[in-house]
Formats: sequence, structure tokens, C-alpha cells
Amino acid sequence: PFLARSYGTSAPLQAEEGFKGHDMLAPFTSGSQSSDVHPLLIERSEGSYVYDINGKKYLDALAGLWCTALGGSEPRLVDAATRQLNTLPFYHSFWNRTTKPSLDLARDLLESFTARKMAKAFFTNSGSEANDTQVKLVWYYNNARGCPDKKKFIARQKSYHGSTLISASLSGLPALHQKFDLPAPFVLHTDCPHYWRYHQPGETEEEFSTRLANNLENLILKEGPDTIAAFIAEPVMGAGGVIVPPATYFDKIQAVVKKYDILFIVDEVICAFGRLGTMYGSDKYNIKPDLVSLAKALSSAYMPIGAVLVSPEISDVIHSQSSKLGVFSHGFTYSGHPVACAVAIEALKIYKERNIVEKVKSIAPQFQDGVKAFSDSPIIGEIRGTGLILGTEFTDNKSPNDPFPPEWGVGAYFGAQCEEHGMLVRVSGDNIMMSPPFIMTPSEIDELISIYGKALKATEERVKELKSQ
Ligand code: PMP
Repeated sequence: PFLARSYGTSAPLQAEEGFKGHDMLAPFTSGSQSSDVHPLLIERSEGSYVYDINGKKYLDALAGLWCTALGGSEPRLVDAATRQLNTLPFYHSFWNRTTKPSLDLARDLLESFTARKMAKAFFTNSGSEANDTQVKLVWYYNNARGCPDKKKFIARQKSYHGSTLISASLSGLPALHQKFDLPAPFVLHTDCPHYWRYHQPGETEEEFSTRLANNLENLILKEGPDTIAAFIAEPVMGAGGVIVPPATYFDKIQAVVKKYDILFIVDEVICAFGRLGTMYGSDKYNIKPDLVSLAKALSSAYMPIGAVLVSPEISDVIHSQSSKLGVFSHGFTYSGHPVACAVAIEALKIYKERNIVEKVKSIAPQFQDGVKAFSDSPIIGEIRGTGLILGTEFTDNKSPNDPFPPEWGVGAYFGAQCEEHGMLVRVSGDNIMMSPPFIMTPSEIDELISIYGKALKATEERVKELKSQ
């Protein structure tokens, strides 16, 4: 019985008698949970499903952590890794030595990004490292082109860009800052583009976007445009609660950023490779970035790998100033790890061969419409999403201003109900997030909707009960 478990501290803990905790300091897990309650031990995966150590089957509605795009048993990715492991399990990419898989993957990635031309790819092990790399690249670039004061970054409230010191600083989620002495002082946060929550009475989406762009411009002017280096944004915000940008938002934001010679970094860690029904989020929202961050579905998560794509303008300055600046002294032992690159090359090949963007487009309406049909529930404030990403926010009175008392653990209860019925979702307070694998079949989507409905019904009953007490 490894299932005596609960989410976070807001739901009642069901400490298993005799369980003395485990030896791992678990990421994004409360201290008491990792020591008092058995973790859910996932043992194997098959297609869109994972199985725990007791053999219980779960529909993986979050694709791991928004990443196993091709599901949990794609033999071609396993073969690609095995072939590379048998040929060359490792060589690095420092000092102008490298391997063919890393060069091939760089070429494939640059070819795949068509929102604008990109010139170079730099490899990391994760999305956090990709975003840390962005900051160093931007600083290096601004030093190289004689703008040493242009060093501040603007990110958005509720964004998620990772959990290393710098990527957590860029993130706009208080939980990532509190008790860690963050954010770093060179990071500023501007408005979260969540129309439902933040629009003023009578304001249209376009007017809301205009107001946010004006606020961004005012922040830049207040700080001094010569001090602002870059703006970073996810096309659709993920961990902050799945927030789809309001109409005209990115057009207006990009105009402001361009006006003040501020670089645009697009964090495509969740949105890339088909998630939104376009190859990249940049394609969907007409974003013309200077820098791109990638990870997750890049290898369908079969190996850890991230990447940064660099515009020709930045690459040219770095190249032309190299005699002045010396070596670009940044990189990781595993930058361009040949096994991770071999798997990513194969993943990109599969996305192309299976026309994964069209596949996502064809199943997205069933997923979006099926879940959004529950929008009338009295405990749901908003269901939002596009393509294969969806967020549900529980609130009272259908209002963004009436949260349920945190101690009720409404989101946690819904998550536990999903788990009970055989589905894994992401719970963050009273936000529920889903981003299923791209390979989901129509009958699996029906199953997802059915479990969502059961969990919702149970949660509605629980809220009714709590209200009557
Ligand atoms: N950026 C975004 C948009 C993400 O969603 C994440 C991870 N959820 C990251 C960056 C960080 O990636 P990693 O966990 O691989 O460091």
C-alpha cells in the first residue's frame, strides 16, 4: 500500500503507520510530506500511461512535467540512445572539440525555428540552465557592443523560468523567492497578462493589452532604457496557471521592447514542438525573438537536454568581438551530450514524420471543448488553454476575487480525486494544470474528460459540505 499520500500540506496528511520517511530531499515537495507520507512511486510507463509500484495505472495528463510529448514507450528514442551509447557514450564540446550528434542537432533546431532566422544553438541540460545562459549571453553581448550599463531583465509576475538562482529570479512566483533571498536585484517584474483576473470593468482584451504595454513602457522609462537589457516571456504561461495571452498582447509588448533596444527572450520550454498546435509558441503569437529557450519535449524528456537559440545579430557581435573579449567562457560538461543530442534528433524527426503539429491540432478541440464543458461548475472560476495545455482555477462565486480558504485544499482534493480515479494532473494551490502527451488517442482524451468530471463532482460535494459546516 504505497498510496497513502496527499498533495502538499493543505490536504489532510495520511501518514502511513511505521513509515519513517526516505533519504531524498525531494524537489518542490514540502518537508513534512517527504518525511511523513509515502511518495507515489512510479515504476514504468506505456504510451500515455504510467504505472505505480503496485501496478495501478494512471493516465499521465501532465506528460510527466509537461515534457514526455511522445509518451512513455517510444522505441525509436530508446534505439537512438542505445545506438549512441554503444558508439560514443560521451565526449564534450569544449575548446572546439565536439561530436556529430551535437552539430546535427544544432542544424536541425535552427532549421525548425522559422518565426525568424536564428544563427546558433547552445546546449544545456535543462530549461533552468538555458535561461541562466540567456542572462550571461545578454550581458556578454551588451559588454561586447559597448553597453555595459544595459544589464537589467524584465520578466512577468506568475512566470516560471526555472529554479536555479537566476532562472528562479526571473520567475515571478513568490514561492520561488521566499526564504531563498531572491529575486536577484537586476530582475524586475511587470504585469501578468491574465485577462480574467486583472482586467478592469468594461476593458476589452485589446485594451487590457494596451494598458499592460503602457505599464511596461513606464517601467522601462522609470528605470532608464539604457539599463534594461532584455524582456523574457513564455508564449503561454505554464506553471503560473496556464495563462493564454490576451488578443494583441505580444504585438504591443514587442513594439515597446523594440523601441528601447531591449532584447526579447522567448521561453519556449513548455510551448515548443507542437504543444500549442504550432511548431513553436512564437509561430502562434507572431513573436520575433532575439533568443529562444528550449528543453522538455526537445528530447520528449527521454534524456535531459535544453538549448538556447541565438539570433544572427547577437552571434555576429560575439563573433566579431572575440579578439577583444576572449573565449566565451561558459558551458557545461554535458553541453551537447551526444546521447541526449541523438535522442533529440530522433524526437525532432518523429515530430516531422508524424506531422505532430497537425496531430495536436486535430485532437486539441476534443480536449479543450471536453474539459471547458465543465466551466459552468459553481466551484470553477475559469478554465483556460489552447492546443494541448489547459488550466482550471477553482474559485467561489465564479469570481477571481473570491478564492476558497486555502485550508480547504480544494485544488489538492481535486488532484487526489484524479489520482484515486487513475489520472495524474498538476496541482498548485487551487490551480489544476494538464498538458497531455501529443500521442493521446481520442479514447484516452475521453477517459481524461471522464476522470476530470468524476473528480470535479466529488470536489463540488466536498465544497458544499465544507460550506455547510
Ligand atoms: N521554463 C519554463 C517555461 C518551464 O516550464 C520550466 C520547467 N517547468 C523551465 C523553464 C525550467 O526547466 P527545467 O526544470 O528543465 O530546469
